[in-house]
Parts: sequence; structure tokens; C-alpha cells
Amino acid sequence: MLAASHCSRLDAQPACRNVAARRHRTAPLAAAQTSATGGGGSGGEQRASRRAALAALVAGVAAIPQRAGADEKAPREGEVRHSDAEWRQLLPPDAYAVLRQARTEKRYSSPLVDEKRSGTFVCGGCGAPLFASESKYESGTGWPSFYDALPSAVALEPDYSIPFMPRVEVRCTRCLGHLGHVFDDGPPPTGLRYCMNGAALLFEPKET
Ligand SMILES: [Zn+2]
Repeated sequence: MLAASHCSRLDAQPACRNVAARRHRTAPLAAAQTSATGGGGSGGEQRASRRAALAALVAGVAAIPQRAGADEKAPREGEVRHSDAEWRQLLPPDAYAVLRQARTEKRYSSPLVDEKRSGTFVCGGCGAPLFASESKYESGTGWPSFYDALPSAVALEPDYSIPFMPRVEVRCTRCLGHLGHVFDDGPPPTGLRYCMNGAALLFEPKET
């Protein structure tokens, strides 16, 4: 299940080989984008509300059958934007494949799977802070996993690229680079599992 949920063009897991025809169908980004506002205001309540909304979104997308006749995904042009040629020059090949082509790295291929220091995981495309090390946990999947993202750091979009396996794509809010997917089988306190590609991230250790 886990391998199948991460089928990709780069990942030749046996469970993925049946996924021959991929159709790209999705709703507009805005339809699923969350207004993650866990930071200020009434703190705990807002965070709890945001988590509940995220959990509902993940569960809701998973329950949606495939939809016919959708458009191509919205272009990945966020606040930070470059031409495709520029992105190819700016990024290492593995980061470009994930961030700009939404591919999935092979399990356990990223050294960030075993990164246990305190610090911040930032976007490999634009440097935006995305995940605090405190929210990282060992999921056993072979991909860096987190139970929560930093407030407003990520945007979510339904992903129907694998037939009969609706998922929720996680993008960097600032550059809209593909980071991975979020599932509802994570640990407390959110119950979410942000399953990220390490190639899309950089780690900045906390200065001591
Ligand atoms: Zn970014």
C-alpha cells in the first residue's frame, strides 16, 4: 500500500508496474488550498481547527472516486517563479525531477530520512521554511515524514494522477514546487503524515 501510494516514473516498485496509463485530472489549486494559520491569534484552537480541516480534506479526497474530464494541473508558478529552463539550471537533477515534475524519489534514497538533528527543513526550490524538526518522525516508509507543516508553508491539491488512488499533493506555498503527499495515517497530535521527498528539501541545522 505504501509503495503503491508512491508510484512514480522514477520509482520502479513492483506494485507500481501496473500503473501504465496515468491521467492528469485535478481540481483547481484553490479548491483544496488551506489557509493554514496556526501561528498567531488564539493559538491552540486555531491549530486544532486547522488540523481538523486538514484531516477532513485528506479523508475527503481519499473518499472521492475518480472524476472524469478534468483539466491539467495549474502551472507551478508561485511567488517565486522561473522559466522551466531556469529551474533546470538552478536545481540538481533529482530536485528538479521532484519539485518541477512531481516525480517521487526512491525509498531510502534521501539522507534526510535519517536526519535527526534540530533545525528546519526548507524548500529546495526557494528556501521557504516548511517543516520543523520537532514534527519529524520515523514512519518506516523510506521517505522523510512529518506530522505537521509550519503555518502557511504548504498548499494542498487533490491529485488524481494514479487511477483509483486519489491523493493529496503537498506543494511549497511560495514556489508551488512539488514536495510529496499527505495522508491521514500519521501519529498524534494531527493524525497526518506528510510524506516528503528528501530531494525537494534542504535541512538547516539549528545554530547552537
Ligand atoms: Zn518553494
